[in-house]
Amino acid sequence: MRVLILGAGITGVSSAWFLREAGFEVTVLDRQPEAALETSFANGGQISVSQSEPWANPDAPLQVLKWLWHEDSPLLFRPRFDLRQWNWGARFLRECLPSHHVHNTIQMVNLGLYSRTTLQRLRASAGIQYDHSTRGILQIFFDQHTFDAAAEASALMRQYHCHREAIPRERAVELEPALGALGSRLVGATWAEDDESGDAYLFTQGLAKLAADKGVEFRFNTCIRELLSDGGKITGVRVRTCEGRDEVLKADTYLLCMGSYSPLMAAKVGLNLPIYPTKGYSATMSVEGYEGVPNISITDSAMKMVFTRLGDRMRIAGTAELDGYNTELNPVRCQALIRRYFEIFPNSGDPNSVKFWAGLRPSTPSNVPLIGRSRLPNLYLNTGHGTLGWTEGPGSGRAVAELIAGHKPELDFDFLV
Ligand SMILES: Cc1cc2nc3c(=O)[nH]c(=O)nc-3n(C[C@H](O)[C@H](O)[C@H](O)COP(=O)(O)OP(=O)(O)OC[C@H]3O[C@@H](n4cnc5c(N)ncnc54)[C@H](O)[C@@H]3O)c2cc1C
Repeated sequence: MRVLILGAGITGVSSAWFLREAGFEVTVLDRQPEAALETSFANGGQISVSQSEPWANPDAPLQVLKWLWHEDSPLLFRPRFDLRQWNWGARFLRECLPSHHVHNTIQMVNLGLYSRTTLQRLRASAGIQYDHSTRGILQIFFDQHTFDAAAEASALMRQYHCHREAIPRERAVELEPALGALGSRLVGATWAEDDESGDAYLFTQGLAKLAADKGVEFRFNTCIRELLSDGGKITGVRVRTCEGRDEVLKADTYLLCMGSYSPLMAAKVGLNLPIYPTKGYSATMSVEGYEGVPNISITDSAMKMVFTRLGDRMRIAGTAELDGYNTELNPVRCQALIRRYFEIFPNSGDPNSVKFWAGLRPSTPSNVPLIGRSRLPNLYLNTGHGTLGWTEGPGSGRAVAELIAGHKPELDFDFLV
């Protein structure tokens, strides 16, 4: 049986790997010249199951209002004449209800734990090098109120079998001495020792090469233009090659993994996917030879930023902006990343080496991705991973491959049927 995968980011490539392992003939299409050149390219690098709480939480509406119009705010809603944006916003508000929030958190934790185990197994068997670290993740807090709330949330996480504990400032500095420069500004931290970090681009590239060796066909520089349907089924995919030649490709099953572009493609066959792009930024700089560089991946709860060491590079990532498909770099938001990093870790990197990047998180209002069969029986989805696509990508790929093979994944998750 032949499967055509649309998109070669972390979700598409992981799916390809597991489908091939299950014996399928697999072809992956992508418009870029290689794998992981869009949102999976320069993300925060965290495998952060412990931070599975969705953005949609009971406090979010007030916070979003507070940040409105602040150019350097962590979460920025730029209202547009775009019905999809307003529909998404209305659904986001509904997901902020406490009962939805708890349900969504459980879904995300379950998928995150499954995915982290999948990643660890893949690492052990495939031996991919991706500047990974297994030192855990520390989330740091600057005010007592937020820290107390995080301690409560940690207890909830433990209830769902995800280890995260609240620790005092002294213990946090013991674990990560680079935090010492903060002095008494640091109130406390949460510590998730089982979480990990690593470069999603290097991992996806490595897995794509191994998948190609095992017989997966990758067709890069291929722009997917349209899904074709007839009689309630997908009948083909119209693509345009880089030479400008149009072609229709056919398979038994089609798997949509196009990140933020998935809803645009799905709309062509009448599917309305609740995914909207949330733009985020990252800065990568050399820290080779510098002192005071954090070795443990850190989440700054106040600014919603992450600082992840990837070998001799530092990846600083964060901010979220609902501004359609615009990927331009806004200098104010770029500088906010660097300024904050040096505020916490003074002189611990080479500011002249910084490379900025922006990517579009494929966000659902609930933060929970769409995995499983769509209304069209031979079209499957593995998309909408929002803030946690690197954390959840390997497991989502494994789970969707099981579903396509007709099996039930060993995972308590609301798969699409
Ligand atoms: C700033 C930032 C920080 C982040 N930090 C983290 C983190 O620390 N931890 C974490 O777990 N997650 C993080 N994420 C989220 C994570 O990066 C994404 O959820 C994940 O990369 C999405 O993967 P994907 O495969 O769904 O999409 P993508 O990687 O975007 O893949 C989609 C693919 O589809 C292709 N495509 C699209 N349209 C077409 C077309 N018409 N024709 C052909 N090909 C097409 C693209 O070229 C692309 O390769 C972060 C995201 C951002 C932006």
